[in-house]
Amino acid sequence: MMNITSELKKAGLRSTIPRLKILDVLEHATVRHMAAEDVYKQLLEMDEDIGLATVYRVLTQFENAGLVIRHSFEGGRSVFELNDEDHHDHMLCLECGDVFEFIDKTIEERQRHVAKNMGFVLEEHSLHLYGVCEGMKKSGKCSLKKKKRARVFSEKDSAL
Ligand SMILES: [Zn+2]
Ligand SMILES: [Zn+2]
Repeated sequence: MMNITSELKKAGLRSTIPRLKILDVLEHATVRHMAAEDVYKQLLEMDEDIGLATVYRVLTQFENAGLVIRHSFEGGRSVFELNDEDHHDHMLCLECGDVFEFIDKTIEERQRHVAKNMGFVLEEHSLHLYGVCEGMKKSGKCSLKKKKRARVFSEKDSAL
């Protein structure tokens, strides 16, 4: 708890039980991208009596404080992830609803290039791809566990 308390403090948030528990869930969950409902279910499993409305409110506070990033996909699905990683983009499986991360240095470079050509100073971007994951397509089982992340690292990636 020590650590989480100081993280909240650093973000300018007072330590309350719901905030501590929810940050704890996000830090220890096996999946990185969680909807508010996922966090709520996890809390229920831990026998924590924190309502869904409170989970939403706290996640929004975390977002405003820069502790988490919210990804709002088309169709209404929103997931949260801790704001502790370098830039990456996301794919959403329209069947299982799971979120896959990826980094592709060519896409990143092309975006920078296109923006520059248009006299545009790029500050940030988020790229959402929609489809069906291989696992759901083949066997009706999400393949998230197998293919958590597809990453191509390059020195240039960190420049954005
Ligand atoms: Zn990107
Ligand atoms: Zn992510």
